[in-house]
Amino acid sequence: MIEILYPDMYVTSVYSVPYRRLRRRGIDTLFFDVDNTLVPHDVKRPTKRVAALFRRLTEMGFKICVVSNGRRGRVERFVSLLPPIAGYVYFAVKPLFYGVKKACRITAASPRSIAIIGDQVFTDVLAGRRAGFFSVLVRPVSERDELTTALKRPVERIVIKKYRRSKRRRKNALIFDRYLRA
Ligand SMILES: [Mg+2]
Repeated sequence: MIEILYPDMYVTSVYSVPYRRLRRRGIDTLFFDVDNTLVPHDVKRPTKRVAALFRRLTEMGFKICVVSNGRRGRVERFVSLLPPIAGYVYFAVKPLFYGVKKACRITAASPRSIAIIGDQVFTDVLAGRRAGFFSVLVRPVSERDELTTALKRPVERIVIKKYRRSKRRRKNALIFDRYLRA
């Protein structure tokens, strides 16, 4: 059962995702978490590097939707400082379907064409796995967490440790490798 918490891919950061290969293999929509995925939770503005990444991804043909469990003001302000994207969802209550469903509607994307990218196993990965997206776990950009997140990190570390040792990880790597080569 713990396997529902295992990502399809675990990488260092949003900058090390093999986007080109994802694109070639039919993923054309990216749902990005914000807090600790793009910037630390207490940083209000996107960095130049985030803006450049989003510009590049849009040029590559990706539709981007920000899907955050954060508050409206925080998310709207952050998105307003980014290059234009398909849309955003605040208070998404990941891992529930509520927000990701909204994001699917905004982007008019089908689950198989979506990758969700985030730093948390219990929100981002679980939401993606439940919805049938390709799920990418990234390392948190900062050690600083909101209290509710901080409480989950120790359990998360156990899950990630198990994942790294698991057959599922090897299986994922194999499947993904074949998927990329096909
Ligand atoms: Mg996050």
